Amino acid sequence: MKKEIEEKINIEEIFGENVFNFSTMQKWLPREAYEEVEKVAAFGGELSSDTANIVAKCMKDWAVEKGATHYTHWFQPLTGVTAEKHDSFITHPDKNGKMLLEFSGKELIKGESDASSFPSGGLRATFEARGYTAWDITSPAFIKEDATGKILCIPTAFCSYKGEALDKKTPLLRSMQAISEQALRIVRIFGNTKATKVIPSVGPEQEYFLVDRQQYLKRYDLIYSGRTLFGASAPKGQEMDDHYYGTIRERIGAYMKDINLELWKLGVTAKTQHNEVAPAQHELAPIYETANIAVDHNQLVMEVMRKVAERHGLTCLLHEKPFAGINGSGKHDNWSLCTDDGHNLLDPGDTPNENIQFLLVLACILKAVDIHADLLRQSASDVGNDLRLGADEAPPAIVSVFLGEQLDDVVKQLVETGEATHVIDRPVLETGVDTLPDLLIDPTDRNRTSPFAFTGNKFEFRMVGSADSIGDPNVVLDTIVAESFCEAADIIEAADDKDKAIHDLIKKYMTEHQRVIFNGNGYSDSWVKEAARRGLPNIPTMVDAVEALTTEKAVKLFEKFGIFTKAELESRKEVLYEMYSKTINIEANCMIDMASKQIIPAVIKFSKSLAETVKVSKEIGAAADVTMKLLDKVNGYLRETSDALAKLQDEVDKAKVIKTNKEKAIAYRDKVKVAMGALRKPADELEKITDKDMWPFPTYEDLLFEV
Ligand code: ADP
Ligand code: MG
Repeated sequence: MKKEIEEKINIEEIFGENVFNFSTMQKWLPREAYEEVEKVAAFGGELSSDTANIVAKCMKDWAVEKGATHYTHWFQPLTGVTAEKHDSFITHPDKNGKMLLEFSGKELIKGESDASSFPSGGLRATFEARGYTAWDITSPAFIKEDATGKILCIPTAFCSYKGEALDKKTPLLRSMQAISEQALRIVRIFGNTKATKVIPSVGPEQEYFLVDRQQYLKRYDLIYSGRTLFGASAPKGQEMDDHYYGTIRERIGAYMKDINLELWKLGVTAKTQHNEVAPAQHELAPIYETANIAVDHNQLVMEVMRKVAERHGLTCLLHEKPFAGINGSGKHDNWSLCTDDGHNLLDPGDTPNENIQFLLVLACILKAVDIHADLLRQSASDVGNDLRLGADEAPPAIVSVFLGEQLDDVVKQLVETGEATHVIDRPVLETGVDTLPDLLIDPTDRNRTSPFAFTGNKFEFRMVGSADSIGDPNVVLDTIVAESFCEAADIIEAADDKDKAIHDLIKKYMTEHQRVIFNGNGYSDSWVKEAARRGLPNIPTMVDAVEALTTEKAVKLFEKFGIFTKAELESRKEVLYEMYSKTINIEANCMIDMASKQIIPAVIKFSKSLAETVKVSKEIGAAADVTMKLLDKVNGYLRETSDALAKLQDEVDKAKVIKTNKEKAIAYRDKVKVAMGALRKPADELEKITDKDMWPFPTYEDLLFEV
């Protein structure tokens, strides 16, 4: 231990050492090849086949020098996790039996894989099983190292034979292109002639739980579904607020140190680490970067978190709600737009009332979020997040925007008079202690309860689930804002008096869409009522949210900017419905298993020991009433458990045979999930009164406080 603490970590040296990034390419590639790569990465187009071959050879030489034996196209199918198939660099040995390692430009740029085993929602009939992976030249290749050895990973997009997107990356790249084109029109209107593109930047904060691996392995629910399906609350939860930002224990600290090291080597800018609100819950946040790289890196963060945990005898739970009764985990998707000449479109400056470009951008975003609230809600939904959104710990299922006092006041002035003549001063925080400085405080306070909050120079989309890819939320953000930029630019570019047109648009958009602004407590019941009065959609579950993908408005939006065709949207819907049913089905089966093979047999043993005690007590003339009472109680819950188990099995049997994906998903939500809840209740009661030595698996106390 002591040695480890003393070991010096040289971040500058290790950062990006496993990445074939631009500075590495500059060293390894001949100048012309490097320049071509740089150009294609910045402005699109294709590498010539000669250059592709050179790049591939250099990439392979670099990787082999670092000890890599295989390469893989690394992609993100609709399962939400990453996929890889390793190929070694070996070829036919030459006639003397000597092995030459090879990697061609073709192998770098394009891969072929059997797409039939990935979800496609009917896009890919079995006779068209071919799927293609294509190199995303803007996201650098990297080497993963673990027990498998060292694998050169090439970030790729995954499409069908006909070019339909089968993954999370393809639509994201399309949406980044769309927002760049439309945002450029806006900055041109305001006189920026230098910028050549506008880049969405993303910084995702990742929450997670750590539990002891030995305990984890004793719980089938954690193994199969990533969350506890049974479990009575521990005597202590998060009520003391002593975990948030608390001192990090050594075992957890050693883990955090290791994930930082791994991530830095992979070029991931792991920056912030701290204990979160719930016991055993933690967070890691990187520095923001270009959206597609941030999405790739977030997948790597999750992968590294899981992998490194095992080395420390821990298991990392990324599920949105691993434990009932305490906070679940989310992923705050921080999002902003920057020109390539360094201007953040979401930076209001000190006087936002005078920053007309900012006000137009803000008005466009308000409009986009209001009109497409259903799509944003959908993009943040997954099976696990249903257990979190709308509960008292995460943003509600209603999308609203938090602006903070200063901007809210500017919007009010604009709506009322068409002018914003003043801005509320940034207050000074007086500490009242001579030796402490007085601080100039932020113009926006924090509002943890808002799903979409303005935080100084970015928006923070807080609905996203911890296990989910941030691909979809960013596709939606980029596309809906591209649409409102496009509509605004159409009007302004055609106007004779541009200043007036801009002024009128800001007022119009802010007036028409101010209903989406809400600065109060998003967790309160009164907000739910108020939101209904304002006509804001409240979409409670993932299954309800899915339909947003194919409304007329959504199809028009996505087709206009070439993000998704109607067929791609339809297919994604099918995938989501299927995924919902399958996930709940696994959870239900797991509960049935645990109840039948673990809980009921254990309780029967306990009840037998009670019955024997009663019998013996009576025989010797001792009091048996307390034991008898307990026995009655146990038997009562045992009956309830057994009835609920039968009912759950029945509902699963019925849901399983439903033919259409949507109806099936609805049955799993309304029947199976309800029956799961009904089984959990008496089983958790039994846990509370059964001899702990007889309980068949670790409890919340063991899992949450023994790490
Ligand atoms: P919080 O106080 O909200 O928990 P953190 O420091 O944990 O803040 O995370 C904030 C995240 O926002 C980081 O990932 C950070 O890089 C990111 N971020 C900061 N500025 C921007 C920006 N302009 N665009 C996108 N993301 C940003
Ligand atoms: Mg944070």
